[in-house]
Amino acid sequence: MGLWGIPDQYMTLFYMTLVLVAAKAAIIIFLASRIVAERRNVEKTPLHLLYAGTICMLTFLVSRLLYMDFDFFLTRFNTALYSISPAIYVWKSGSFISSVGATCLIWVLDRKVLLNKFKGAFAIIILIAGVLQFLYPVREGSLEDFSMVSSIGILGGLVSLAVPIVFFLLGRTVPGLRRFAWIFSFGLIIYLIGSGGLSQNLQDTILSGMNRDVLYILAIALKIIGLTITAYGLSKIRNINKALIEYYQAKRICIVHRGKIDGAVFMCATCHVFYCVPCKDAIVELENACWNCKAVLDPKKQGPAQHAPSNTKKEATSGEVVIVDEPGREQDEGKKQHKAS
Ligand SMILES: [Zn+2]
Ligand SMILES: [Zn+2]
Repeated sequence: MGLWGIPDQYMTLFYMTLVLVAAKAAIIIFLASRIVAERRNVEKTPLHLLYAGTICMLTFLVSRLLYMDFDFFLTRFNTALYSISPAIYVWKSGSFISSVGATCLIWVLDRKVLLNKFKGAFAIIILIAGVLQFLYPVREGSLEDFSMVSSIGILGGLVSLAVPIVFFLLGRTVPGLRRFAWIFSFGLIIYLIGSGGLSQNLQDTILSGMNRDVLYILAIALKIIGLTITAYGLSKIRNINKALIEYYQAKRICIVHRGKIDGAVFMCATCHVFYCVPCKDAIVELENACWNCKAVLDPKKQGPAQHAPSNTKKEATSGEVVIVDEPGREQDEGKKQHKAS
């Protein structure tokens, strides 16, 4: 027996898990500092993806702490105790919390980056797997039931494998996003390989010949490297948004409903993103602020008494709002202005 009654052969895993927890906390602090920095930046950019990434990482940290309690203190790797209360509930809560975080990130990626291509399908599958896992009745003392719920978790994991694949495809359709897509997919794949190395099934079969301590160190190092790369990718939110907007302009896509614009295009005078007229009218009614850069969308709507101190407002009032019907001319103009600014 090692420290705190943790079996000796699991002490390396315990220390490595502490390192993993510290790494996750550091990544959360890094992402939060990026959010603060971006919010202070005068030139606004949408931060949904960065928020979702931070929330996801936060749920992963909480779930890791619960798993840690389950592994090292509640069960001490004695499978006979896995399905006994309260261990089973701690484990289920850990799984559920991380599935909520993954759902959140994948949902935002789908809606904001992938133009709602998958209609939230991946996010919904992961959430359903999470809920099923949580609600599945595990009989006390039944290892079979426990294996069943962990299999549901593996299903969720397999779905998350689809995410890097989707990103490779995205990198091909939106050239400006290629770098981000590669970084993100690469990080995720490394993370998933690390997770696989820690799964009991793989340890008992393919990895059975490997020294356990070496395996633990390698697997957790891979997880940390993968998460760090992914977080680095997310921190480049400004470049991601820029690439997306260039893509939307080239394809005449409305930033609000993320669909192709038929007919007239309304362009934000400050950042040059496109709106379809119905969406623009709705936004002007609601908040009259550009979805992308937060500048005043339609200056005519503003009363003369209102004077915003920021220079974005000045730009918005002095800049001409462009409404055009010809797709070709408008696109070139938008691009030229974008590059010049
Ligand atoms: Zn704008
Ligand atoms: Zn629209």
